Amino acid sequence: MANNGAKEWAAELARRQQAGDGLEFSPDNFLRAIGGAGTDDSFEMWLKEKVCQGELEALQAWKCPVEGCERVIDKNELEANVCPKCGTDFQEVGENPIRQLKYRAKGDTSRDIYWMIVIHGMNTRGAWQEELSWRLANKFKYSAPVLIFKYGLATIDVLVKCRHQSLVNKLGIRIRKGIQFAREHNSDHRPDVIVHSFGSQLFALLLENEQFCDLKFGRVITVGSIIHPDFDWSKHIDSGKIEAVLNHVGQKDIPVRAAQFFIPGTGPSGQKGFKDSASINVSEQSYGHSSAFEPSELKKNLGTGGLWDQFLQNPLNHFKPFTAFHLKEWKPFFVLVRCFTRLLGYLIFAILAPVSFVRRFLDP
Ligand SMILES: [Zn+2]
Repeated sequence: MANNGAKEWAAELARRQQAGDGLEFSPDNFLRAIGGAGTDDSFEMWLKEKVCQGELEALQAWKCPVEGCERVIDKNELEANVCPKCGTDFQEVGENPIRQLKYRAKGDTSRDIYWMIVIHGMNTRGAWQEELSWRLANKFKYSAPVLIFKYGLATIDVLVKCRHQSLVNKLGIRIRKGIQFAREHNSDHRPDVIVHSFGSQLFALLLENEQFCDLKFGRVITVGSIIHPDFDWSKHIDSGKIEAVLNHVGQKDIPVRAAQFFIPGTGPSGQKGFKDSASINVSEQSYGHSSAFEPSELKKNLGTGGLWDQFLQNPLNHFKPFTAFHLKEWKPFFVLVRCFTRLLGYLIFAILAPVSFVRRFLDP
């Protein structure tokens, strides 16, 4: 019986550490949460053992003796001798605060999402953006604003590097404005980021661009990523530019496999993963290029306990998705083939650029 109890207690403790929630508790509350009642010696022994192992810290706490108030009184408040909630002077009524045992589990607390930036792929003015904004806005007690970066139609622009840079400048300026706006509205919090397809490459180039080194981000989710699998995420995590990155890989993603042949500086990380061990690659067998944004998948990923929900809110030292993997080796396709397809790309750009220029002029 005692062994069974210990298993259950350990599972509850692990659950709290994983969620970063309920880390501070009284023995009574802890047992009540798992359907138990009252504390017994074996539970107290187990708690003491965990304190010895460094898993738990024993805290000194008291509570107000007035029935119906029972506010927790900390050490400093104890010296004042007055309950901050009901105002009872303990000396006057001749009742001392009741001593209460409390524990704090090792681990980080969960984090909140304050606002979010979404950078989509080329020409996707897809319905998923609205679905995503709606879901995010409804997910939290307060609404987390979503900034969707719109760069208009980018078709042949993806074929040449200089056009990428001009889109990155546009993106950087827009995000800087967003951060300033958030600051003016009393939010110094970093935005979390979701990037998709060509938007992932723009975001990677933005991180590399010294001109925008002032921009800092929270956690980053890449979907259908065409960022090079060798990308140095560690550098940006270590420098504090981003907090962490989750690469949601689709095994059936076809477009990302073609990227390296036509789009300079890219690779199939959305299907192969990233080599950098600081990134978290999570594989999805059935996912194609945009599957993660289908309403049913958004619901699953952002729902409580879903992959994105856990990545965005839980402490990451306990974040171990079932299908996480590490990419050991990846090499680009033969250079000659890539040169040929890239030249073809430049040729297409050269032929269509005047048409594109006129279209942009008429519909900026
Ligand atoms: Zn009180």
